[in-house]
Amino acid sequence: MTDKLTELAGHYREIIDKLGEDPEREGLRNTPERAAKAMQFLTRGYQETLEGLVNDAVFESQMDEMVVVQDIELYSLCEHHLLPFIGKCHIAYIPQGRVLGLSKFARIVDMYARRLQIQENLTREIAGAIETVTHAKGVAVVIEAQHMCMMMRGVEKQNSLMKTSMMLGSFRKSQATRNEFLNLIQRR
Ligand code: ZN
Repeated sequence: MTDKLTELAGHYREIIDKLGEDPEREGLRNTPERAAKAMQFLTRGYQETLEGLVNDAVFESQMDEMVVVQDIELYSLCEHHLLPFIGKCHIAYIPQGRVLGLSKFARIVDMYARRLQIQENLTREIAGAIETVTHAKGVAVVIEAQHMCMMMRGVEKQNSLMKTSMMLGSFRKSQATRNEFLNLIQRR
């Protein structure tokens, strides 16, 4: 185990103990280490950078119409409760001279989602990253997600869906462009 993992596992052991459980009972004996590893995995976005991730997968292209990548699965952790929020991310952009490799949209979503987040900032960061790497004429991001901190605790609302959007460039300026995107992602 790395030093950090050992330390994290120690804290999880403490948490289990403070919750009134016995960290030494058989079912829980390896839980601190497993939980520490899981948490490191769920926050691995901190180890990535936009440049490293995109890694030159930006290609010259004359394409100047809207490109939409829909229904990208999204798993994140809310920074207020460290509980998951789960949903989908839809991205559109209008290229001007350069397009981004398709798999990179999912990688960008993951890089920011695998951190402690609030949905509003996550939406903004994804849009900003796509604008930065493509210099697109416009970028739009919509996220729809369900928050375990709403569903499992607090108000215990099981069916609420939070929707956030970030519109940049031509998506912000032109209602027609915005509507075209919103219509496209509503059609399933
Ligand atoms: Zn929360």
